[in-house]
Amino acid sequence: MLKIHDNYSLKDNTTFGVNIAAAWYAEPTTAEALVFAITHARERNWKYYITGEGSNLLFTGDFEGLIIHPLVKGITVVDDAATEVLVKAGAGENWDRFVAHCVEQQWYGAENLSLIPGSVGAAPVQNIGAYGVEAKDIIAWVEVINTKNMQPEVISNTACGFGYRDSIFKHGEPGKYIVTAVVFSLKKNAPLLLDYGNVKELFIQRGTQDLHNLRETIIDIRNSKLPDPCETGNAGSFFKNPVIAANEFEILRSRYAAAPNYPTGTGRVKIPAAWLIETAGWKGKREGDVGTWPKQPLVIVNYGNATGRQIFDFSEKIRLDILEQFGITLDREVTLIS
Ligand SMILES: Cc1cc2nc3c(=O)[nH]c(=O)nc-3n(C[C@H](O)[C@H](O)[C@H](O)COP(=O)(O)OP(=O)(O)OC[C@H]3O[C@@H](n4cnc5c(N)ncnc54)[C@H](O)[C@@H]3O)c2cc1C
Repeated sequence: MLKIHDNYSLKDNTTFGVNIAAAWYAEPTTAEALVFAITHARERNWKYYITGEGSNLLFTGDFEGLIIHPLVKGITVVDDAATEVLVKAGAGENWDRFVAHCVEQQWYGAENLSLIPGSVGAAPVQNIGAYGVEAKDIIAWVEVINTKNMQPEVISNTACGFGYRDSIFKHGEPGKYIVTAVVFSLKKNAPLLLDYGNVKELFIQRGTQDLHNLRETIIDIRNSKLPDPCETGNAGSFFKNPVIAANEFEILRSRYAAAPNYPTGTGRVKIPAAWLIETAGWKGKREGDVGTWPKQPLVIVNYGNATGRQIFDFSEKIRLDILEQFGITLDREVTLIS
């Protein structure tokens, strides 16, 4: 029987650590219990929302509905071939524990995604990415409940519509699919991907050139730059890196000759949002308990008792300022729930 909690504090359920509550809260551990939770909400005309570990969410107030946090667990090998392994992980598995397991088993592919907070179930939703790898590179298929007919479905990698921090789970009809498990295709041997930032340099310094050391290198780099959500509330990058037209970039470059840029190969150019925010003077700025992280201005932090609304208002000031100064619109990477 699924327990549905009343008036549930979500302070420890999001990494921003804002003090908000949900009218109801449930943690289904099976696909059947998940279906029960949704049906229960629909029968009562409650709104509902699916969360993982809350590391990409900002609630701006109490949630007058049912928060459903799927905790379907388990990591199993579904196919073991000579060079490749297919591994299924439940949506409720912690992402980094899954990566650690892959590295222990000497399965290649997930190591550059070490230490990203959150659950396995959320990984395909925003196609998590770091250090030159995205979840889409290793996902074979995603197992879901289709909330239109409450039936299980399998969505192949190509049908997931993966893009930069995007997928059909996020755009199109958000909420249509609830992820119950993800199946990953991992290699038993593969070249390590080191060509991103200072990864190669730090990796070589570590001595043994193996999978385990690449994971440790990534963990060290992340720990040196990003705030630990257990100590300082945050949800990682607040904004996406904007991708602008080549002619818009030329205008930007005429004013800022050193503007960092990454051509995307489609006549468009990606600009680091952190550079825009720093150049606009927001790096390390603090207003009350909200601020940008001094080592990485793309991360907005809760220094203590900030409310979701204060964090949102601060983020909007940054967005407006970037638009005024550069003519570039920043899109949120964090999902806002108001
Ligand atoms: C310090 C820090 C560093 C970070 N670094 C990175 C990074 O390097 N790269 C990166 O890509 N992200 C990064 N993030 C963002 C975050 O870790 C990812 O977005 C992560 O995938 C969120 O997982 P979650 O379980 O916390 O999902 P939540 O934040 O709870 O939810 C995120 C979205 O996924 C949906 N969702 C969750 N579970 C399911 C499910 N089972 N079925 C359907 N929808 C679901 C939610 O409805 C919501 O829309 C970082 C965050 C922090 C705090």
